[in-house]
Amino acid sequence: MILYAKDVAQCCKDECRELAKKLPAPPRLTIFMVGNDEASQVYVRGKERDFLECGFFCETVHLPDTISQEELIEHIVVEGDKPEVNGIIVQCPLPKHINADKVFQYIPPHKDVDGMGQSSKFSPCTPSGILYLMDAYNINPSGKHCVIVGRSNLVGRPLAKMLLDRNATITVCHSYTESLQKHCKSADILISAVGEANFITEDMVKKGAVVIDVGTNRINGKLCGDVCFDEVSKIAYAITPVPGGVGLMTRAMLVRNTYLAAELEVL
Ligand code: NAP
Repeated sequence: MILYAKDVAQCCKDECRELAKKLPAPPRLTIFMVGNDEASQVYVRGKERDFLECGFFCETVHLPDTISQEELIEHIVVEGDKPEVNGIIVQCPLPKHINADKVFQYIPPHKDVDGMGQSSKFSPCTPSGILYLMDAYNINPSGKHCVIVGRSNLVGRPLAKMLLDRNATITVCHSYTESLQKHCKSADILISAVGEANFITEDMVKKGAVVIDVGTNRINGKLCGDVCFDEVSKIAYAITPVPGGVGLMTRAMLVRNTYLAAELEVL
């Protein structure tokens, strides 16, 4: 089974668009984009399209990569004080002289729709998108052994907690993990968030496993995930495609979180 996300993500966005009609004003997001990272610009344009499609507002503030951490924080604080702004995100990666975790702390928790600050009221978009997609395909992680490769604050760590809350048994692997192949092969649900093409090969996957590919890589300009799709899809019970999988869900979750932030304002 291929876990296509297109229709699931579309359904989620359609639902948000309908629900938002009951709000006094359309939900509004501000994106801070620092520098000209090419991949980030593509992601930002995708987010802008999603918001437009739902009738929501999305404004991208472009800032030079020479901006200091303090200046960026000042911009965030000013935006955070605007009552009409429901959500604020800072597109990553940031230039090396800026500490992303420090910056995230200045986004008001009820506007931190990427779920990156420690006190955000929202779950990070990629892990919640993965769970949303699994739910849509009736894949229940309860009691299953989930192996996550990657321990970033963006994906691996929050996903481990969310799966644990769903009663899964979790193993988190990283670049220091010994016997990675053995761990991966023991997974009922294997999630790869490494960022290396062809990282997960057939010999690392148990027959009948669910494989979730978070990776976003390029080979000769062509988008691909971490998983050798052709060989792994032959033995997996279910697998997400790249493109058309987790990335679409991440975007849909940003729309959803921003709708929820706007709804919180009126409650
Ligand atoms: P990251 O911060 O670079 O983390 C990568 C993780 O992979 C780290 O924990 C690292 O271990 C681990 N790793 C690297 N090499 C390894 C190896 N040989 N064996 C085992 N573990 C290894 O990346 P990220 O932000 O989590 O993103 C991961 C990938 O997902 C990237 O391709 C990114 O573009 C993509 N992504 C996609 C979406 C989406 O919506 N589709 C969203 C977010 C991210 P250490 O911690 O030991 O360094």
